[in-house]
Amino acid sequence: MNERIGDVGSKSDGDGDFRFPFIPYESQILFMKSLYKLMNEGGVGFFESPTGTGKSLSVICCALKYLRDARSDSNRQDLEKNKNTEEEPDWITNFASNKLAENLQDERMRLKQKIQAKQRSKSQSGQKYTRIGEDDLVIVSSSDSESDSEDSFNIGRRTVRWKKQKSESDVLDRPTVIYCSRTHSQIVQFIHEMIRVEDSKNYSVVSVGGRRQMCVNEKVSALRSAAAVNERCSELLESQRSHIKSEDQKVNLHPDVPASKRRKKAPKSSQKGCPYYSKKRITVLSDTIRSEVHDIEELVSIGKKTKACPYFASRKAMESGYDFIVAPYAAVLHAPTRDSIGLVLNSKSVLVFDEAHNVVDAVNDAYSAELRSIDLNYAIKAATLYLERYEMRLSAQNLFLVRQFLDVLAKISKYIGSMSLFPDSKQVLKVSELIFDCQLENYNLFELIRFIHESNICRKLLGFLDVYTDNCTEVVDASQEQPSRGCFHACEGFIQSLTAPVEDGRVVVTHESIKFLMLNPAAHFKSILDSVRAVVFVGGTLSPKQYIAERLIRDHSSECKEQKSRDSIVEFACGHIIPKSNLLTLVLSKGPTGKRLDLSFSQRQDPELIDEIGRCILNVCRVSPAGVVVFFPSYTFEETVHKQWESSRILASLANVKRIFREKRGASSDEMLKEYKNSIFSSDATTQKQHGAVLFAVIGGKLSEGINFSDDLGRCVMVVGMPFPNPRDPELIQVIDHIKTTIGSGYSAQYMEDLCMKAVNQTIGRAIRHAKDYASIILLDHRYERASIQNKLPSWIRDDLISTHQFGQCIRNLSTFFKSHTQSKL
Ligand code: SF4
Repeated sequence: MNERIGDVGSKSDGDGDFRFPFIPYESQILFMKSLYKLMNEGGVGFFESPTGTGKSLSVICCALKYLRDARSDSNRQDLEKNKNTEEEPDWITNFASNKLAENLQDERMRLKQKIQAKQRSKSQSGQKYTRIGEDDLVIVSSSDSESDSEDSFNIGRRTVRWKKQKSESDVLDRPTVIYCSRTHSQIVQFIHEMIRVEDSKNYSVVSVGGRRQMCVNEKVSALRSAAAVNERCSELLESQRSHIKSEDQKVNLHPDVPASKRRKKAPKSSQKGCPYYSKKRITVLSDTIRSEVHDIEELVSIGKKTKACPYFASRKAMESGYDFIVAPYAAVLHAPTRDSIGLVLNSKSVLVFDEAHNVVDAVNDAYSAELRSIDLNYAIKAATLYLERYEMRLSAQNLFLVRQFLDVLAKISKYIGSMSLFPDSKQVLKVSELIFDCQLENYNLFELIRFIHESNICRKLLGFLDVYTDNCTEVVDASQEQPSRGCFHACEGFIQSLTAPVEDGRVVVTHESIKFLMLNPAAHFKSILDSVRAVVFVGGTLSPKQYIAERLIRDHSSECKEQKSRDSIVEFACGHIIPKSNLLTLVLSKGPTGKRLDLSFSQRQDPELIDEIGRCILNVCRVSPAGVVVFFPSYTFEETVHKQWESSRILASLANVKRIFREKRGASSDEMLKEYKNSIFSSDATTQKQHGAVLFAVIGGKLSEGINFSDDLGRCVMVVGMPFPNPRDPELIQVIDHIKTTIGSGYSAQYMEDLCMKAVNQTIGRAIRHAKDYASIILLDHRYERASIQNKLPSWIRDDLISTHQFGQCIRNLSTFFKSHTQSKL
């Protein structure tokens, strides 16, 4: 089914039962109706609705209706079961229905209390909580407890058995909506919208964030990277659990331990653990989370006041059951992370991905694994020291597996070392080839990875390092790049990736690192598609949608090729709420001297062509008010252009018209953006001749996504050339090869166009940001005239696009467009 809605800017009479907080636009009603149908019937859908059209609110109201109806369905079914066979008056049936709903609520409450009572009794009976994987709380047997008290880093003689945590949500199999997005700011914005909807109070809504956003321990949250925050938190909790202080005393007093091998006194902070990690206070905060909708900032503020960690409280809240989860991509896309936080996908779950043009990359990132040589070598040294210390205390099987772990790492390290003879090259090979070249074929990597998970050896090695820092510092040259404390997890991730099916990925080796490159995101997304009722891809600009469909959704295995057709995906695209007269999109294929604008890679170094581009931009700047933003396909090309315009004096002419700003490679853009804004809004910031400013930016750079060039900040957005990826990039070559063998060579050429147009669409989406905005978009390259390229533009841009074959026509259109808007303002 394909639905297409044009320019629908009118208000509707009502929204049916969606309980929209305002009178919705007609387009919002149609969006919600179509989305609700998908949620109810199940399937996969693309829902494209431009920025500023109230997309988030439509998703929220629709999702709440889905939950509401699912809840009353469940009530009805229960009622049916208990129905009296004789005819009953309506008031009796309604009373019974309401009573049943109350009973269900009571039941949920009883369940919550039961969970809490269960946890209390477990903690009283001496059982101990420990963590596996990311942050999961699992119960280990008292023998584990003894083992840990003997020595917190020792795996012990016991062979560890995996205990799968049983989530209460498994039991409930309740209808749930899981909304995820890429950035923290998008998640915060979504929660703010949700708070505006009255009905959200009737559901358990849990915001899940990373420790970077939710940590309230100032000493930890002040650390620079998310990885550093995660590692520091894990270390604190490890130390809190294992009572290092008392162990230090025991071991240091032992006469057999030589002075050189005695533990350094643990740092004070480690001894104390984290003051916010109190089970009692976390339980109270988790109840607060479940009682009403909070955004992450509110949770952090409450966590600080109540001295409870909001990160673990939100996880605890999930354990007690939830209706609506708001989470970052990584928490949902990566199966082990999903398991660790207790996120259950079931046949009544609806999964909504916002900003969905990023999902393919996010799945690939979640399952790719990079291991730096410096981290690998550091991990080897630490594991060697660990083995020296605990060799005698390990069971034969554990000793065997720790040695295997070390052997595998050493062989991979040797292989990376062999690349030092070719420092500028990248070697790409299949997993099976790497295993053969590294002589790993006799190791059972599946068993090894199982041992790594179950024994929690990475955490133990990390804690070991913390105490034995002196012994390990010799391995690091202080003047060089330092290893990360996440080195053990990086090793674990890489070994895990070697167990992937051979065709799903490739290994890329340089003299500094080894990386598993995931080529088949569909293989991992399949488990999500198979588990849930509906998957919804939402975005302001999802085009080209085929990119997501082919890479993520379609099953290209031979047995499924026949079964799955394109029609099984629902597509809904809604027009912009701006009037058509507020957007002018032009394709410019010739410059002022009539020179054809061919910016293909082989042509674009031509100085005459570069000057022709300069003359185009100069003329556009003369007729465009306020801010003009010009996007180039790469930093290198922008630098070449800038240099040429300096020598041909085009830059000087441009500076007479608008103040010039540039996005610089690797530099922060904050100050520059402030200045740019100032030049547009303050007449003091420009000379008398100048009006406004022009900003040169790069597609794929910091300014092409996430920055709004609304109103005067971007009255005209120009894209110079087409940002095709480098076809010689070794990683891209592997992806293309994979596409050729799985999807077919027909799609591989299209794939390059899809990548290019995905970047263009995100860039031009910066221009119109709200209902009263107006702007012009100019695509400068004759290749934008091709139908195959124009078909990959969002429909609200494509439908009114004008191809100008004469430069004068472009300038006339532009001039008329801006004059009409200036006059309408007067
Ligand atoms: S327990 Fe919570 S507050 Fe403490 S360090 Fe970890 S994330 Fe931060």
